[in-house]
Amino acid sequence: MTDANHNRKRASRRMVPPELGPIRSALTVDVEDYFHVSAFRGTVRQEDWGRLESRVVESTQKVLDLLAEFEVQATFFVLGWVADRHPDLVRRIQGAGHELGCHSHAHRLLYEMTPAEFRADTKRALEAIQDASGASVTMYRAPSFSITSRSLWAVEILLELGFIADSSISPVRTGLYGLQMAPCHPFRMRVKGEDLFEFPMTALRVGGWHLPVTGGAYLRLLPRFYQDLALAALARRGEVTTVHIHPWEFDPDQPRLAAPLPWRLIHYARLRQTEARFRRLLARFHFGRLSEWMRVPTPVCEVSPVRTSRNEHLALRWLDDESEPSRLP
Ligand SMILES: [Zn+2]
Repeated sequence: MTDANHNRKRASRRMVPPELGPIRSALTVDVEDYFHVSAFRGTVRQEDWGRLESRVVESTQKVLDLLAEFEVQATFFVLGWVADRHPDLVRRIQGAGHELGCHSHAHRLLYEMTPAEFRADTKRALEAIQDASGASVTMYRAPSFSITSRSLWAVEILLELGFIADSSISPVRTGLYGLQMAPCHPFRMRVKGEDLFEFPMTALRVGGWHLPVTGGAYLRLLPRFYQDLALAALARRGEVTTVHIHPWEFDPDQPRLAAPLPWRLIHYARLRQTEARFRRLLARFHFGRLSEWMRVPTPVCEVSPVRTSRNEHLALRWLDDESEPSRLP
């Protein structure tokens, strides 16, 4: 490490306000190119991906350099499509001591696929990432947190394919994702006696509302004072949070693609601020890989069918009275 880096790191550490304490967080990176993002799924066709300029190697390297500077290790969910084309990048991530996970093969939303399509897509991605790395991959992140009440069937398939942990559920609801019944802390989902450890997207429960806190576009768009307040509240509750970032968010000069205006605003806004804001998080958080937080005791729920007068669907059913605590030990 250079002297300048060392001094910057020491200065960053001094910035940690004592009231925040050691915030515990799993850090996750979704390794995809700027054109894979769900915002462009209506305007960029999958068959054109190979013709667009790929920038994922350079932008992921920026993230790797930052994490090395702060001596942080994370879980990298790699898109199978990227692993197929850039196996060296997968090995570089692995060589830097990070954990590999799967971010699907073709970045399709789970609730827009059939269970058979999902199984095939996931198997293809696993093959690509495992071929590149030689590692066995047991962590999954769905594109755009797309495990919702319409795609809870995916839990059984993930278990069937050997996954032990997942981070595909958002307790915050938007037009793209969200499972309101999910808690704002890690939990386990049980199907046929087997458990899948779930790390939901970081959210703050206020009354009956689940509010976004940080990570991805929230890191760039939400006011810093709000993020600080929300993180301080989570720290006081002793909760483990899961922060996600994308390499393309560290690439402000990426080519501009067509998309409906709201999507363009969310995707391109404040890309020049990503690095500064992320550095601030790295200085304030105690980050780790997902597997490090799997030792934390968590409540368990069963993914079970619920019958209503109109239909039958899957829902999370807590297994005992203490299964949904407001905080973790
Ligand atoms: Zn993604």
